Amino acid sequence: MTKIKFILLNLPLLFFLISTAFAQQNMEWPHELTEDWTPVDDSVSTTGYFGQAPSDAIMLFDGSDLSNWEAAPGYFINAEQVPEYLEALQTHHGPAPWKVEDGVMTVVPGSGNIMTKMGFTDFHLHIEWKTPEEIDGEGQGRGNSGVFLQGLYEIQVLDSWQNPTYPNGQAGSIYKQTAPMVNASRPPGEWQSYDIFFEAAYFDDTGKLIKPAYVTVIHNGVLIHHKQKIKGPTTFIGPPKYKPHPRKLPIGLQDHGDYVSFRNIWIREL
Ligand code: MG
Repeated sequence: MTKIKFILLNLPLLFFLISTAFAQQNMEWPHELTEDWTPVDDSVSTTGYFGQAPSDAIMLFDGSDLSNWEAAPGYFINAEQVPEYLEALQTHHGPAPWKVEDGVMTVVPGSGNIMTKMGFTDFHLHIEWKTPEEIDGEGQGRGNSGVFLQGLYEIQVLDSWQNPTYPNGQAGSIYKQTAPMVNASRPPGEWQSYDIFFEAAYFDDTGKLIKPAYVTVIHNGVLIHHKQKIKGPTTFIGPPKYKPHPRKLPIGLQDHGDYVSFRNIWIREL
């Protein structure tokens, strides 16, 4: 066996040892440690997956106003901050500060995240989104937003059209956990759709995890996650870890400083 082959084969072990060392010494994790650069097939072409909401769906945004949304508290960066975030959800946060124009809502950079007024457990969420036609920035800085399931678990929104970044952080990824099976992204400035089927995590009375959350995602009509296990709330720093939370929680949308737009958002509780 060549030296290079030996090193490559032992990379997972090395990663594990480094992670364990960091965890044991309770050191701050560099955020790069949870960025997986294994490439994803990006040869899929799609036409999108749009249309009217089913008659039994709850319309979360029909293009008229943000009456079903409010301002959200700032998000957590690591797993230990999740309880603080859940606590912050208890207080009223005021009207959603994003712009609505021509049937479309758009992030007002710097105004903060928004979330639904209603909470949800298991659901099918349909959402259409668009990143700016004019390319500004690269990698994570290009058309970044996110759909936060129960405000905790992010399905990444990003302009991933010929825009390399770590694949477990590209559009459709369960951010910093699982890359999409393929890159079904459309070019910037074109509407894209997510259909997200979410099964919430269960905790017992003592807060112990009984069942993790699972998610299935269809991006522009293409299956990109199939009943994928979620490892815990999305964290930028360090490994994800479950923290007990209420059964019903709001859906959040991220202000990551980019002009990302959304339309036709509906949900069906399962
Ligand atoms: Mg994001």
